[in-house]
Amino acid sequence: MKKHNFYAGPSILSPYTIKHTADAVLDFADTGLSLLEVSHRSKEFQAVIDEACALTKELLQLPDDYHVLFLGGGASTQFCMVPFNLLEKKAAYLNTGVWATKAIKEAKLFGEVDVVASSEDTGFNYIPKNYTIPTDADYFHYTSNNTIYGTELRKDPDSPVPMVCDMSSDIFSRVFDPTKYELIYGGAQKNLAPSGVTFVIVKESALGKVSRAIPTMLDYRTHVKKGSMFNTPPVLPIYSALMTLRWYKENGGVKEFQRRDEEKAAILYDEIDRNKLFMGTAAEEDRSIMNVCFVMKPDYAELEKEFLDFATSKGMVGVKGHRSVGGFRASLYNALPKESVEALVAVMKEFEAKH
Ligand SMILES: *Cc1c(COP(=O)(O)O)cnc(C)c1O
Repeated sequence: MKKHNFYAGPSILSPYTIKHTADAVLDFADTGLSLLEVSHRSKEFQAVIDEACALTKELLQLPDDYHVLFLGGGASTQFCMVPFNLLEKKAAYLNTGVWATKAIKEAKLFGEVDVVASSEDTGFNYIPKNYTIPTDADYFHYTSNNTIYGTELRKDPDSPVPMVCDMSSDIFSRVFDPTKYELIYGGAQKNLAPSGVTFVIVKESALGKVSRAIPTMLDYRTHVKKGSMFNTPPVLPIYSALMTLRWYKENGGVKEFQRRDEEKAAILYDEIDRNKLFMGTAAEEDRSIMNVCFVMKPDYAELEKEFLDFATSKGMVGVKGHRSVGGFRASLYNALPKESVEALVAVMKEFEAKH
């Protein structure tokens, strides 16, 4: 049976990415060696990381004074690396979920943190709108897509200070203005690569401004200077990331994926709103196009497990909601074809007809 992969992360990758990674595991760049056993210092791998940086810059239209890094440690390490490198006195944070809360916790180790607004009061089902960012903050940090709750900021906020953004789960799904940001980071396992690599995009002028000493491995300048090769980088996930970037470029770039992603999300939200059994959990104006969260309507709450089993029997994988919120979540990352969304909608209709 054909499987439809709705996992939230690690998550679906393009067939192109998987095939070319598999090929390179057997024979990497005609070296006669596996990608798993080549030196990261080889000229063949240097070409991989160079192209991955160049394509990231091209696809996101980054100005020349932005560096692209591929590091280990996950987005979670960035929660501390960002304030370590950028927070001198005070930073502003928007609290829109578990990941933002974790970022705030780390920032507090380094200075004053002004949480300008939070949607915790209603279980993070919306994005706060009216808040004031202090003009004396070193930066304003937010999470563009809240993977667990299915809310998303689809427009760059206005901020009087430079912005830092955790774009783990929606990078490459919308066109944004990079000049508003001094740093963007994310785990690559949502929309780019298998797990194991973290992307960081940092503006040159953001670095070297804090007075504290920074451990070598946690100092962005180390990785900028050494081109992400200060130590051994995650070779295989970086190779896969390059394959995905090539696939993005061949398929029309970020603008085209934004169109496809918005179309896919509209198909699923339309069904959630139409179907008598289901309802969405996120405030309508803040609905994520990457992670669609929904539940059974109260009258049908007892059908939750039955629906999950039914969907699983039809080849749907990973539609269970995050363990902290329950219900259902369908992640519609760039690599997910529209056919998979249509298949899920067909399953929801069929289940409705049975009840
Ligand atoms: C998955 C996720 C993270 C955590 O990433 P790790 O690489 O596992 O540390 C952080 N922020 C967001 C928005 C995420 O979706």
